[in-house]
Amino acid sequence: MEPTIFHKILAKEITASVVYEDTDVLAFRDIHPKAATHLLFIPKTFVESIAHATGASAYIPGMLIQKARAFAEQQGIDGYKLQFNVGKNGGQEVPYVHLHFLADTKID
Ligand code: AMP
Repeated sequence: MEPTIFHKILAKEITASVVYEDTDVLAFRDIHPKAATHLLFIPKTFVESIAHATGASAYIPGMLIQKARAFAEQQGIDGYKLQFNVGKNGGQEVPYVHLHFLADTKID
């Protein structure tokens, strides 16, 4: 499979506006924001979509949600939306699992 744009962002081959990184995830600003703060949380371990997150990768969706929740707490954001698009018919354009984080509160 061809590396996706998110593989390239993780490999630092493409620049992204990174807001958070740890050993498990990277979070960066969506290039076409749909809210004052629109971030994407991706795991450092590749899985294509929520539909593929089974077996050894079944922990990934919950882990992304926990990371987004912790990030919101740390930023003092008390209201936000989390969204996974799953598969082409579910509006998923990039075949690398990612959690959309949308908030009306702007972060620095
Ligand atoms: P989805 O439709 O769920 O696959 O969402 C993919 C998201 O990735 C879209 O909201 C795009 O705006 C965003 N996106 C695509 N390329 C980049 C990029 N280079 N940097 C940041 N966000 C991107």
